[in-house]
Amino acid sequence: MEEFDYEKLGLLCGLEIHQQLDSKTKLFCRCPNKLQGTREPDFTLKRFMRPVLGEMGTYDEAMLTEYEKEMTIVYEGYNDVICTYELDETPPFECNDEARKIAIEIALLLNSNIIEEMHVCRKNYLDGSVPCGFQRTMILAKDGYLELENGKKIGIDILCLEEDAARKIITKEKTNFFRLDRLGIPLIEITTKPDINDPMECRECAERLGLLLWSTKVKKVLGSIRQDVNVSIKAGTRIEIKGVQKLDWIPILINHEVSRQLNLVEIKEELQKRNLKDGDLPKKPIDLSKVMAKTKCGFIAKGIKSKKKLYGINFTGFNGLLGKKLMEDYRFGTEIASKVKSISGLKGLIHSDEDLKKYKFSDVDIKTLKDNLKTKQGDCFVLVLGNKKEVDKAFNIIINRVKYAFKGVPPETRRALENGNTEFLRELHGGARLYPDTDSQAIINNNEEIKVIKVDLPEYPWDVIKNYSKNFKIEERFIKDLIFTGNLTIFNDLIEIYPDNPTLIITTLLETSTALRRDGKDIENITETDYKDIFTLLKKKEIGKEAIEEMMSLKADSPELSIEQIKEKLKIESISVEELKKVINEIVKNNLELIKEKDMRAMGPLMGEVMEKVRGKIDGAIVSKELKNALQTKLKELK
Ligand SMILES: [Zn+2]
Repeated sequence: MEEFDYEKLGLLCGLEIHQQLDSKTKLFCRCPNKLQGTREPDFTLKRFMRPVLGEMGTYDEAMLTEYEKEMTIVYEGYNDVICTYELDETPPFECNDEARKIAIEIALLLNSNIIEEMHVCRKNYLDGSVPCGFQRTMILAKDGYLELENGKKIGIDILCLEEDAARKIITKEKTNFFRLDRLGIPLIEITTKPDINDPMECRECAERLGLLLWSTKVKKVLGSIRQDVNVSIKAGTRIEIKGVQKLDWIPILINHEVSRQLNLVEIKEELQKRNLKDGDLPKKPIDLSKVMAKTKCGFIAKGIKSKKKLYGINFTGFNGLLGKKLMEDYRFGTEIASKVKSISGLKGLIHSDEDLKKYKFSDVDIKTLKDNLKTKQGDCFVLVLGNKKEVDKAFNIIINRVKYAFKGVPPETRRALENGNTEFLRELHGGARLYPDTDSQAIINNNEEIKVIKVDLPEYPWDVIKNYSKNFKIEERFIKDLIFTGNLTIFNDLIEIYPDNPTLIITTLLETSTALRRDGKDIENITETDYKDIFTLLKKKEIGKEAIEEMMSLKADSPELSIEQIKEKLKIESISVEELKKVINEIVKNNLELIKEKDMRAMGPLMGEVMEKVRGKIDGAIVSKELKNALQTKLKELK
């Protein structure tokens, strides 16, 4: 990663966090708040998007961009868990009280002011993920803050209670498939103020928000929390990065975005230096299909033969700019190509800052291209292959994007990629996306209700982490993991039953379960009651801790069995210390030669032999202690 002086660059970041709430039913209908997984849908419904004129008599830019993609949308639903509301056939039912109260609790934890009279608004959704074209959302609280470890307060701008959109299953042949089970699940949206000035600070803020949410009644499964990061620098523009899946991505994404913005600003300055004007840009591409029909570049020759068009355009004075690196493995040319790909579906473009030989163009080909496009030293040309309509659309995008290079960084929503880069997702939505929902009445959050919730607020998770770490002598990161795996409640239950060994409980909940999952075991079959039963047996010394993994494994395979049945099936009987001593004495007697030869170093091999006989029946630590005693006694005798 390149090092930047973020303070000097005036870095401002903000976070937008979406988290599903764990209420029984959806926000505006009484369908269950539950995803149906891989279950086959019962019905499908096909819709097409088309733009409508706004109140001001103009089309929304973002809406037109979506329309240009010419996508068909198919909604997939289930007869038993989807009602007419999700299909936009009936108006909303009353707002879900349970979800609203969870949201109030979160707002209070974030020191926000709760809005007394909430108004439901509509937020346009243009990608088809909401059948009615808008999401219902309401501002529940405003002007709060979250405190970081060093005491810095990050402002919370607004907190909204809203509906989740439908779940995208796949895109196939210009059709997007959405599953309706996720549509309408209550969601909390938290937007921070742009108070974050450093990539690591942004990571900490996101982590704290996540910890805080997961200490309330939210869905604690992978993918239930979604993070977006806004990034801007003084010389650049505010960019929204969507779909940040891991906390560790955040610092890298910000670093790369800063690099991209800085380099786009450099391109703008270079254009000024070269005395180029956006008004001088070419307006239309040139058809090269005829003159390039015999090209040595295989895929272009083949394309032209099958009636595709090869168009080119010359950008005067642009030499080197499309080849300029913006982030790792990403040049200005990549940026233009990825936008073309996203909107027109065309795979890519060729530009003359690239090594043209890699496309197998001959010298004659290159001369023909330059002659026809009137490309001179210091220029750069761009080629696109496709059918006429696609190519026209592509050049429209290319010319507009190159034109923006004169202004700097275009405001965009970008998608986070695993390598820390981002790609164009859509134009940044205009500010006026919210408008009142005429189907809904105002919803009241009354003071009495808020007071009751306030009394029962959970402790801040970072305080919980500190206290637990101190009380149970466990590293803080393990407590954090307990929260982020949704295991803190069960830890609390188990520590009551078995206070002897907190580390064993942590290992069981975090490591053993992860190892079993990796082995393909369905550990969702192990319930909280099962864990409690296992640790009760352990407390009563009816099993040794070595038996835990085997029991969990069998329970995962046979969920119908109780822990008591599993214990019987595995023939786990505990033995007393007295019985253990007998086993040990027997083994010591049979190994006198080994003990004479190795002295206390006989401990290792003998331990193995004893454990083979008593594994799972008594705690290994007791075995080790007793064996050591027995060995020491025997060695004294022998001397
Ligand atoms: Zn419904």
